[in-house]
Amino acid sequence: MNLHRARIVLPLGSPPIEDGAVAIDGTNFAQVGGFDDLRSQFPVAEVTDHGEAILLPGLINAHCHLDFTSMRGAILQSGSFSAWVRRINDLKRTMTDADYIASITAGLGELRKWGTTTVLNIESLPELMVQLPPPRIRTWWFYELLDIRSRIHTEDVVAGALAFFEERPSWHGGFGLSPHAPYTTSPDLYKLVRFCAEKYGMPFTTHLAESDEEMQMFAEGSGPLFDFLKSIGRDMSDCGAKTPIRHLLEADALPRGAILVHMNQLGPGDEELLAPRAGSFSIVHCPNCHEYFQRGPFPYETFRRLGFRISLGTDSCASNRGLNLFDEMQTFRRHFPNVAPKELLDMVTRHPASALGLGGRFGELRAGARADFITLPFAEGVENAFEAVVENRTPPYAVYLNGQSA
Ligand SMILES: [Zn+2]
Repeated sequence: MNLHRARIVLPLGSPPIEDGAVAIDGTNFAQVGGFDDLRSQFPVAEVTDHGEAILLPGLINAHCHLDFTSMRGAILQSGSFSAWVRRINDLKRTMTDADYIASITAGLGELRKWGTTTVLNIESLPELMVQLPPPRIRTWWFYELLDIRSRIHTEDVVAGALAFFEERPSWHGGFGLSPHAPYTTSPDLYKLVRFCAEKYGMPFTTHLAESDEEMQMFAEGSGPLFDFLKSIGRDMSDCGAKTPIRHLLEADALPRGAILVHMNQLGPGDEELLAPRAGSFSIVHCPNCHEYFQRGPFPYETFRRLGFRISLGTDSCASNRGLNLFDEMQTFRRHFPNVAPKELLDMVTRHPASALGLGGRFGELRAGARADFITLPFAEGVENAFEAVVENRTPPYAVYLNGQSA
């Protein structure tokens, strides 16, 4: 048994504790409470005193593409989504396998540095994973699937994925499935992925309703994204009648538990379509990426009113300055100053854990949860502790995964 004490402990699922501690048995928290209380319960436990610090759960990044970490600053912001897609496709063609591995490794290091202990990573090159050392943080690798140019053998991919983790006990995390987006992935492939996700109990995520160009393409059958995809041979007969959200929902393309990334564009009727599904789907917002593309307001209040759980992600360095969830919370706050710091903290801890179907097992300090936690500079008073965490601008003092310094 190990005890970790700090001036303030923020369990998140229960009230803050002054002079608090966590007791760790192996890889999991055994108990969370006042230090004196835990000390008397576990008199022989080894004590690590983090001193004048705030101890809180490790952060969870709900959307990232580690493949593109090396593209930081490489694409000048133009506001045009289809221009960005063309440019990233050009850049991808210049990258070797070694470049991608370096990019993934650098991204994992940057996430860990800024206190992220779990990441939902979209992986477009899963075949490279055999060349990677075990990541230091918990990583969900979402196989990216699209069929705009070629057919994909989804069930083979899934079978390979399931074997991968069985053979690698030192890897923490798992596999998920990610049909890329409705403009690159056919409803047939979505439905096949949905079938696999349900059959094997794998998490499912997709980009949806990201840009005004995507809305224009589906709803009006026109615009720069429509023209670009038509020019590369996409069958555009599904465009001109429905919003992107209606397109996927009416095709029955999304499993229960689907993690929907971006959701920036709501068209006529979308709110009514989504309302009965607030308990089935969760939503990910990427604040810095949103600013990078100069998008209009994210419909946060609408989704909260409908009862959706919202998480934050960084997206990739091809549309962001870094992989730092503190920076994301601060950007979000500039646009939504009335959201309480505690709510913001839930968006990078408890909400993404629930989105993965693992609520209570990560993203909070409680008995039975994985012992993933970080420590940050102390601020006087517990209410100020939430504020201090959200406004934090320095890397955590300590990062622990499964009870071990990571
Ligand atoms: Zn993305």
